[in-house]
Amino acid sequence: MADSTHGPIRPAPTNWAGNITFSTARTHRPGSLDELQELVAGSRQVRVLGSGHSFNAIADVDGPAGTLLSVAGLPPSVDVDTTARTVRVAAGMRYAELAGHVHRHGLALPNMASLPHISVAGSVATGTHGSGNANRSLADAVRAVELITADGSARTLHRGDEGFDGAVVALGALGVVTALTLDLEPAFEISQHVLTELPLAGLDFEAVTSAAYSVSLFTDWRGPRFTQVWLKRRCDGPPLDFPWAAPATSPLHPVPGMPAANCTQQLGVPGPWHERLPHFRAEFTPSSGAELQSEYLLPRADALAALHALDAVRAELAPVLQICEVRTVAADTQWLSPAHGRDTVAVHFTWVPDTAAVLPVVALVEERLAPFGARPHWGKVFGVAPRELRARYPRLADFAALTRRLDPAGKFRNAFVDAYVT
Ligand SMILES: Cc1cc2nc3c(=O)[nH]c(=O)nc-3n(C[C@H](O)[C@H](O)[C@H](O)COP(=O)(O)OP(=O)(O)OC[C@H]3O[C@@H](n4cnc5c(N)ncnc54)[C@H](O)[C@@H]3O)c2cc1C
Repeated sequence: MADSTHGPIRPAPTNWAGNITFSTARTHRPGSLDELQELVAGSRQVRVLGSGHSFNAIADVDGPAGTLLSVAGLPPSVDVDTTARTVRVAAGMRYAELAGHVHRHGLALPNMASLPHISVAGSVATGTHGSGNANRSLADAVRAVELITADGSARTLHRGDEGFDGAVVALGALGVVTALTLDLEPAFEISQHVLTELPLAGLDFEAVTSAAYSVSLFTDWRGPRFTQVWLKRRCDGPPLDFPWAAPATSPLHPVPGMPAANCTQQLGVPGPWHERLPHFRAEFTPSSGAELQSEYLLPRADALAALHALDAVRAELAPVLQICEVRTVAADTQWLSPAHGRDTVAVHFTWVPDTAAVLPVVALVEERLAPFGARPHWGKVFGVAPRELRARYPRLADFAALTRRLDPAGKFRNAFVDAYVT
């Protein structure tokens, strides 16, 4: 994705999904911290592009004069401290590579997203999450953030420092993150079980989502039922007890028509945490590969009511939907985390790759989920009005104040940040 500083003129890069073409054809890729600091100090507007897996213009600059940069050219350092159970990782590293290093030291990340292809800094900047009633978003594992701020100087914020809760899920608005330190735990094994055909009628949401370490429910909304249930059971946890649906007899992909070979191993075969927590294998295309995505996070206590509200419009959803995934995320304290302050259910939509057809349905979903104060995923397609969105984040004004303190001239802002952070 990232272009180099030199070379022939190329078309502007796009995001992974191809629905966003960035506003400049040139992506800078500094190879050292000094080079990065100089670039930041000498630029008027700076945005960082991670692995480009967001579905909106969150990472973009506002025009060709802006500096779009990647930190993927910085040394790919990863230092595991087995005594402290932490890892300090270069910001541009992808979870697949990080997880391998961590596992070789007998340690684990507490959770992962559905795919390991995404960069660590880009993921935590948007509040990316996996699933599990007791699992918080990936940003919650961060204990220190190393930043290059607007004047080019380096700064580290540690958990407990003033403003730290605003510095991780930060939408790229505070500076260029160069490294992160994450909490780890002892490595564990997971067995992954896929079940089919779980009816929505009579669903005991709490019982179902607490049946394993991480639970995902998939539906195409062509009926009032979940086509698949993915249970990721810790092998050191209680045995599986899931009387509500029947086990699949062969491996499955959650998106109809896609090959199961792209997915992590199923059928209850135990394996290391990093080869089971993501749904998709690092060497293969994740999800369907041709898609748009949206996701809304709302209080877990409202999960059933929200699912029934969506069921009522399933005839409108189904024609533009590839698959819908329902997960849970434990409450956290990060100011801009969509799971801030509330145990959460996350309702995700993998749409067909047709913006014009999808946007009216996104608006319909937002209307149906508005009564639950649904917060959109920062990295996906959404249209919630800025005023409404701000009202759903009790600490957003504190985040705005933090951006003014660390970046008084607004060097790291863009149109996306300007819309929501005031
Ligand atoms: C197939 C697919 C599956 C997905 N599954 C999940 C899932 O399971 N759970 C979930 O929650 N999300 C999921 N997502 C969304 C994805 O996790 C987010 O879009 C995430 O932000 C992607 O990380 P990235 O590195 O590609 O970020 P980008 O899209 O490149 O950037 C996102 C933001 O991070 C900022 N940023 C990136 N690097 C830095 C840095 N070094 N310093 C400062 N700011 C930086 C950017 O400026 C931008 O604001 C999925 C996306 C795809 C395409």
